[in-house]
Amino acid sequence: MSWDDFAKHAKDAADWGAQYHKTIRDRPVRAQTAPGDIAAQLDATPPETGTDMGALMADFEQIVMPGITHWQHPRFFAYFNANAAPASVLAEFLTSIIAPQCMLWQTSPAATEMESRMMDWLRHGLGLPDVFQGVIQDSASSATLAAVLTMRERALTWKGNQSGLSGQPTLRIYCSDQVHTSIDRAIWVSGIGEDNLVKIPTSGALRGMNTAALQAAISADRAAGHLPAGIIAATGATGMGACDDMQAIAAIAKAENLYTHLDAAWAGTAMICPEFRTLWDGADQFDSIVFNPHKWMGAQFDCAAHFLRDPDLLRQTLAIRPEYLKTHAQGDIIDYSEWSVPLGRRFRALKLWFLMRHYGMEGLRTRIRNHVRWSTALCDRLRAQPDFEIITNPILSLWTFNAKGASDADTQTLVDAINDDGRIYLTQTLVDGVKVIRFTAGQFDCEEQDFDTAFDTITQIARRP
Ligand SMILES: *Cc1c(COP(=O)(O)O)cnc(C)c1O
Repeated sequence: MSWDDFAKHAKDAADWGAQYHKTIRDRPVRAQTAPGDIAAQLDATPPETGTDMGALMADFEQIVMPGITHWQHPRFFAYFNANAAPASVLAEFLTSIIAPQCMLWQTSPAATEMESRMMDWLRHGLGLPDVFQGVIQDSASSATLAAVLTMRERALTWKGNQSGLSGQPTLRIYCSDQVHTSIDRAIWVSGIGEDNLVKIPTSGALRGMNTAALQAAISADRAAGHLPAGIIAATGATGMGACDDMQAIAAIAKAENLYTHLDAAWAGTAMICPEFRTLWDGADQFDSIVFNPHKWMGAQFDCAAHFLRDPDLLRQTLAIRPEYLKTHAQGDIIDYSEWSVPLGRRFRALKLWFLMRHYGMEGLRTRIRNHVRWSTALCDRLRAQPDFEIITNPILSLWTFNAKGASDADTQTLVDAINDDGRIYLTQTLVDGVKVIRFTAGQFDCEEQDFDTAFDTITQIARRP
């Protein structure tokens, strides 16, 4: 393909994208295909000769699009949203054209320096103190793994990477029973082992971990000769939005000399609105905080903002310098590959720059506030119906409900029927062992009318004879 042809096809793709988004409400949110439908239309072996772009685009529409669940649909109320604001899409397009590999400062100084500055902007936007420095990781899972590895190395006085874990005291890490599975995975991958992830029970309206039980668990572990290494807290956990008491956890961590990591992957974006910051009061005392601009903020996947009180602890854990990576640059530069598990890194800061400059922080805040307001209003509307009950109240835009008297099987049947209908998309979760329907809102372009459609869809389908 010549670059002149590229320009023509790129314009066609942009037109296709605009049309897709303008008519997206006409599509069912969740793909309505059966397993194998798409694979059956793909050749078993690669072609020997090339195909022109016109035929490829036609196949893309006919084969691929029916098998897409539309994450950018304004009535996507399932999981947590993974937004792609148009300004961010344009930045990603430019990034994929220049396609730099940004592992070291010298492999693209603009990428490194913009990354530092964008993390400063986000820190400012979230109201965190200046002491935090930041790095953009590919995912919250990677940031949490990096934090767990730091906990491990710090507790073992930097001997784990060299000598492994055998012969060492048993490391222990603490979190609540609400945390995301990425915490379990980080514990597996770091070699610490699931048996040594101590899950503390939660209680109260915010479902925070019981900090007296946390203190008791740490003391019992020390008495048993174990080595407590860190605490992982959550603001806005995935199931029902649980938020831990960061003040109390930070106080315990300080007294016990433990490293602290906060997983605010989804809810972190809401902290650009000062009125929501009570949910993570005390976060400013943590050692490590991750949130995903690629969820609620509008920077498209992947973009996980990872703040560190002392990046040297992370660098001491992960930095490795063979000769071919030595840069011999002058002055105070950052090689961000020393701050993350993968060596290679995409230029992720550009989309944050486009996003924050184009919408302004106030434009981003307005969206978050609308989502929380409309979601809460829908919750109240459903609460007023005689045949529904709210199971957990809104934490930001996330809440759970059930049809009154529904068994677990009834609830799953209702969720499946709603998603087969296609107007909206929801998921189920477990609350205290009972299956419930989970509602969360946060698509970048959703409007109040989309919540009315959600109300109509849920009540109509539940009341169908
Ligand atoms: C989405 C989510 C994660 C995982 O995020 P990735 O970026 O996909 O790794 C972790 N924790 C919480 C609370 C989440 O909501």
